Amino acid sequence: MSYQLTDSFGRIINNMRISVTDRCNFRCQYCMPEEGMVWMKKNELLTFEEIERTVQIVARLGVSKIRLTGGEPLMRKELPLLVQKIARIPEVHDIALTTNGYFLTEQAVDLYNAGLKRITVSMDSLDASKFAEVTRRDYFDNVWTGLDLLQTLPIGPIKINVVLMRGVNEDEIEKFAGLARTRPFIIRFIEYMPIGAGDGWDYSKVVPTREIIARIEEHFPKLVPVEYHGAQPADRFRFEDGKGELGFISSVSEPFCSHCNRIRITSDGKLRTCLFSLHETDLKSMLRSGESDESISRAIVAAVWKKEEGHLINQPGFVKPQRTMSQIGG
Ligand code: SAM
Ligand code: SF4
Repeated sequence: MSYQLTDSFGRIINNMRISVTDRCNFRCQYCMPEEGMVWMKKNELLTFEEIERTVQIVARLGVSKIRLTGGEPLMRKELPLLVQKIARIPEVHDIALTTNGYFLTEQAVDLYNAGLKRITVSMDSLDASKFAEVTRRDYFDNVWTGLDLLQTLPIGPIKINVVLMRGVNEDEIEKFAGLARTRPFIIRFIEYMPIGAGDGWDYSKVVPTREIIARIEEHFPKLVPVEYHGAQPADRFRFEDGKGELGFISSVSEPFCSHCNRIRITSDGKLRTCLFSLHETDLKSMLRSGESDESISRAIVAAVWKKEEGHLINQPGFVKPQRTMSQIGG
């Protein structure tokens, strides 16, 4: 039988998110401040070879799903080369990307040819001026053109992540739900989490999943749960008339921690067992000091065993991690 990476709560870890850069060309309100970001130096980032070796090691431990993220992953030069390296690892069955979509028109075809299987695009507004307000960049058309191009490629399903913020874009719930019915996009509503840089998060700004579903069902056919195998952060629903699918990531109101199957590697090579971890394991130092695969493997197994039971957002005892979403890898 093949190896299974498990934690002390019996969860099987088969999914790793890899941040390939902390840099970004957007400044989404909920993620980064408008100015003053300090980026990692190039030599602090894992090289493609170091990422490849790390994936080979975790793949032998049972990780079969990889997602590239950032910062904005498409800002990392020659990303298709990395996709190609990871796609060649026999135990890896799924390689996906989360992106703000700005560079898709330039890179989507190369990424597909390199072996990328799925893409999630983040888009928080269907209105160009609201989009510019949320991302602090006037790039709506670039992202929309990228989505049009994706539709022509055999890559999918195409998912769109929408972070809803009370009083900012909550008035677009129905527009996004309608989009899921008219285009081949799975819209995933994500609850706003306290992990941005000086984002002024408080619970009153979160639009809870229950409220989103209720609003959608006032205007559209009823939503029925989609049965699926395996762990996913999103609760999936389809419209009763069969037209369109939605996902809800209720990280704040109903966290999926008890069936979380993921770990993360930051762009500077730190293993994190939860987005909200307060501890990291420094794999980069091990990779750069001649440690064997076996010893890196042992460090990963030991770190995963101590994976946190869950996060404590909006509960007493919650401590915000020092690193933000874009530095960790969302
Ligand atoms: N730059 C890429 C993008 O925006 O898709 C990838 C990195 S981004 C950090 C990954 C995902 O995290 C995006 O879908 C983004 O909307 C989400 N995200 C960032 N900050 C968040 C927050 N405070 N709460 C909830 N989701 C957040
Ligand atoms: Fe950049 Fe993604 Fe953060 Fe927006 S959410 S600032 S696109 S890293």
